[in-house]
Amino acid sequence: MSTTNANPSENRELPERGPVPPRKSEQPLLDTRARPLRDLRISVTDRCNFRCTYCMPKEVFGKDFQFLERDQLLSFGEIHRLVRIFRDHGVEKIRITGGEPLVRRKLERLIEMLAYWDDLDLTLTTNGSLLKQKARDLKNAGLKRITVSLDSLDDAVFRSMNDVDFPVAEVLEGMEEAERVGLLPIKVNMVVKRGVNDHTVVDMARYFRAKGPHYILRFIEFMDVGATNGWTMEHVVPSRELVKMIHAVMPIESAEPNYRGEVAERWRYQDGSGEVGFISSVTQAFCRDCTRTRLSAEGQLFTCLFATQGTDFRSLLRSGADDDAIAQRLQGVWGQRADRYSEIRTAETAKLRKVEMSYIGG
Ligand code: SF4
Repeated sequence: MSTTNANPSENRELPERGPVPPRKSEQPLLDTRARPLRDLRISVTDRCNFRCTYCMPKEVFGKDFQFLERDQLLSFGEIHRLVRIFRDHGVEKIRITGGEPLVRRKLERLIEMLAYWDDLDLTLTTNGSLLKQKARDLKNAGLKRITVSLDSLDDAVFRSMNDVDFPVAEVLEGMEEAERVGLLPIKVNMVVKRGVNDHTVVDMARYFRAKGPHYILRFIEFMDVGATNGWTMEHVVPSRELVKMIHAVMPIESAEPNYRGEVAERWRYQDGSGEVGFISSVTQAFCRDCTRTRLSAEGQLFTCLFATQGTDFRSLLRSGADDDAIAQRLQGVWGQRADRYSEIRTAETAKLRKVEMSYIGG
C-alpha cells in the first residue's frame, strides 16, 4: 500500500528554533462540565495496513473504500499551527494516531516540529507493524514514549483479529527496538473481545509482567465505536472480570491515578513487578474527567470518541484566517462541550452513525 505525503511543501517546513514561548493563557479552557482541555489526539491519516475487525472491518474498508486524498489531509505545517493554538489553550498532551500513523511518510518531521514545545507530553499509538524500522528516527525526532496495540500473543488469534495475517513476532520486535532506543514506557493496548481473544488475557499479562515495569499492559473493553464493527454487549468482557482472572494467578491491587482524566484504571502487581491498566468505557464510564479532543486527518475536531459530527478547522486554516479566529472557534467548540456518551450508552445509542475510530484515532 502506498504511503502518503499530504503536501510536497512538507519537506520544506522546518521545525521552530529558539526558546519555547510561554502559553498565551494559563487559564484552562473549561467545558460545560468544568472539564479542562488537556489532551489533543491528532489523526495524521485515515489509512492503515491492518484491518482489525473491531475498528476497520475489511467488508467496509475494502479495496474500493474511498480514503482521504493527499490534498485533503492537513499538512504538517497546518497541524503545527493548530497545536500551537491548542497549547495556548491548555493542551499538555499530544497523541499522534491514525489509522496507522506510521504509514504517513516523513512522520518524524512532524514529530520534530511538535517536539519543539518540550513542555508537551508527545506520544504516539501504533499497531507496531513498522515500528522496528521507524523507532530510532521517531526517538531522534523527539518522540517521548509510545503505545503499541497488540490483541494477543497467540499468532493465530492475532492474525485473525488484524485480518491481514500479520505475525505477532514482528510487533514484538518493534517493541524491543522501541525499548532499545529509549521510547519508554511502552504501553500495550489489548482490546478484549469475548469468545475471540479473552482466553489469551493471562498469557499477555504474564509475558509483559516478565518484560519489566517499563511495559504497561492495558486491557480495553470492546467498544461500540463507529458504526461498522457489529458491536454487541455479549462480546464485552467487563474489566472487573479480567481483574479477577489476573488476580487469581498474579495478585494485583488497585493503584492511584497519575492525574485527573487518566483513561486507564491502574492496578499494580502485589509483588512490585509492575502494573496493568483497565480501560472500561462500557462498564465503568469515565466521562466525568474526560479532557480529550480528537482532530481528524482532514481537520475535523471531535469532542468525543463516540461523536456523530465534528467541527471543521481546515477551511479556517486554508482561508487565511488569523490565530484569533481559530482560537475563537476552539473556545466555542470546547466551551459548549457536554459529551458523556459512555454514561448514556444504550443498545439504541450503539446504532447511531458515530464517527469511525480509524478516522479519528482511538
Ligand atoms: S465517551 Fe466521550 S466524553 Fe466519555 S470519556 Fe469517552 S470520549 Fe470522553
